[in-house]
Amino acid sequence: MKVMKFGGTSVADAKAWKQVYSIVSQEKDVVIVVSATTKTTNDLLLAADLAKENKLSEALEVSERILKRHTDIIDELVDDETHSEIFTRCYEWINKHIELLNNYLLGIHTLGELTPRSNDVISSLGERLSSFLIAQIGPLYSVDSIHVDSKEVIKTNSDFGKAIPKSKDIAAAINEVKEPLEAGKTVIMGGFYGSNSKGEITTLGRGGSDYTASLVGLALGVDDIEIWTDVSGMYTCDPRMVPTATPIPDISFNEAAELAYFGAKVLHPATIQPAVERNIPVWIKNTFRPNDHGTKIYATAPLDDTLRAIAFKKDITIVTVTSTRMLLAYGFLARVFNIFEKHQVSVDLVSTSEVSVSMSVDSKERLDPVIEELMEVGHVHIHDKMALVCVVGQRFLKSTGIAARVFKTVDKYPIQLISQGSSDINLSFVVENEHLIYVVQELHKEFFEK
Ligand code: ADP
Ligand code: ASP
Ligand code: MG
Repeated sequence: MKVMKFGGTSVADAKAWKQVYSIVSQEKDVVIVVSATTKTTNDLLLAADLAKENKLSEALEVSERILKRHTDIIDELVDDETHSEIFTRCYEWINKHIELLNNYLLGIHTLGELTPRSNDVISSLGERLSSFLIAQIGPLYSVDSIHVDSKEVIKTNSDFGKAIPKSKDIAAAINEVKEPLEAGKTVIMGGFYGSNSKGEITTLGRGGSDYTASLVGLALGVDDIEIWTDVSGMYTCDPRMVPTATPIPDISFNEAAELAYFGAKVLHPATIQPAVERNIPVWIKNTFRPNDHGTKIYATAPLDDTLRAIAFKKDITIVTVTSTRMLLAYGFLARVFNIFEKHQVSVDLVSTSEVSVSMSVDSKERLDPVIEELMEVGHVHIHDKMALVCVVGQRFLKSTGIAARVFKTVDKYPIQLISQGSSDINLSFVVENEHLIYVVQELHKEFFEK
């Protein structure tokens, strides 16, 4: 048994759906998790923001665009004469959900308010559309599919926008998936969303459909979790940034998790964790080149080279707090980190000196109240427009010369913050955004192109 997840570009249009059906029709005993069609989640979030900003007509134009994107697919894949029932069902589903969207937009516009809860209801519409439609049309393309609503299976807490799954509740609900599977059906579910104990829709965070796949995989105890996307695996670096990057055939859970966490968008950072729990291999495969090997992620993947890959995160911010007392008196770091915890802002890298501590954070979202409170603890300096670079490999703590080689390669560029030693597999540092591309390309050349 396996779970196969198809991302946004893999379900972008009618041609891509046909490709997905051709891959899935060769499988038995399989659960399919799908993303929203590409650009749809962004569009939904944009429409909600426009409505809030009193730009209702622009918001409704975006909604119209989402409607058309989906009806175009139905028009191309379903002949309304020979399969009028499926055709009508699909159109009804689209119209119903676009009407819901327009009603939400109107409400947001009227109230001038967009709550995290409404934002989740709206952003989940992409997967609620795609999953139902893909399941309806499956039988026309040799897939005996049935739709299961992820709201009934992916049970989470109520942290809207970044909800935390409750594995026990998911395990208890997994019969919703198991029963149709046992009846020989191919189950199709939407990624990214679930619901809390009150039945309200929640989402798992951007890129969260990968996570849905591994949660379902864990609950079912599948043999494989496959993430089907638009590249042939996890590469030595983002191939959009470094065109000479190559796919990594095998990689360990730890290394893949580290790369995902530090910016390798090909995998949602939380995906690995459920897989590790039951030691389920995770594959990254290319929907448009299904015969390519892809990447296999598993516990014991060996590494002969020095490094496995390079990841990066652009537009991070460095927050430096300098103690107003002479030394970092005890309790200073605790006070600083408590403030981050209180506002639920996560810190990536940390570096300390005698009187100060520097931390990198992902985005400037929710940072203002943090800064305000930090100012009560010490002097606060903010460096924005920075980028984090993370090199990943194995046995860093026992090897010699890796750090020297990394920093020699990028010695033309100022380095803001360095972190090594907290794990055996990661060396991270921060440079300016504008230097990022050169730093990453030169490192890639040094370690992977010789
Ligand atoms: P999907 O919609 O299928 O989930 P994503 O856009 O989320 O796809 O992820 C795939 C993209 O991740 C690729 O197109 C690639 O640009 C980007 N990416 C970033 N880092 C890496 C990496 N190390 N290896 C492969 N792809 C990467
Ligand atoms: N559609 C969601 C997003 O764009 C989830 C996903 O595709 O993984 O973030
Ligand atoms: Mg993704």
